[in-house]
Amino acid sequence: MKEPKVESLPGQPCPICHTKNLTLTQAEDEIPFFGKIFIFGMSCSNCGFRKSDVEAAEMKEPAKYELEVNSEEDMNIRIIRSSEGKIRIPYIIDIEPGENAEGFVTNVEGLIDKVRGIIQHSLDIEEDEETKDKARKLLKKLMRAKFGQEKIKIIIEDPSGNSAIISEKAVKTKLKR
Ligand SMILES: [Zn+2]
Repeated sequence: MKEPKVESLPGQPCPICHTKNLTLTQAEDEIPFFGKIFIFGMSCSNCGFRKSDVEAAEMKEPAKYELEVNSEEDMNIRIIRSSEGKIRIPYIIDIEPGENAEGFVTNVEGLIDKVRGIIQHSLDIEEDEETKDKARKLLKKLMRAKFGQEKIKIIIEDPSGNSAIISEKAVKTKLKR
């Protein structure tokens, strides 16, 4: 597989701290069964501000993808999430889209690890024992899902059409607004 072509532009003004320590990056990648995508990044070495997003080179229709994860092989299924894509893993988490949402290209395993990170973080700052217990159970469930021992569903809805789950197993439907 060829590495994505990356261009970077350092010395840009940062929207947060207003120093010229922001580096803009743009990478191009080719995703089988989806097409060419651009991955944009911003990162400031002064204040630590970071932002990333993903956009398909060609216009896409608003789409909803649903995937049932039930085996270890499913860990390799690629996932593209733009900042406008809402991710739902029923009974576990909703990751809302928006201005501060992160766009990324990953696979099911990478997404599960991201979600585990989010839950682990909330567990670390949570004080209520009952809520902590719930979070621990979710972490266990996600760990089992990684080994195909627990079924989970991943749903991504993106009105921009820039998000996708790349698998024959994924059910793609037109997103109703
Ligand atoms: Zn900054």
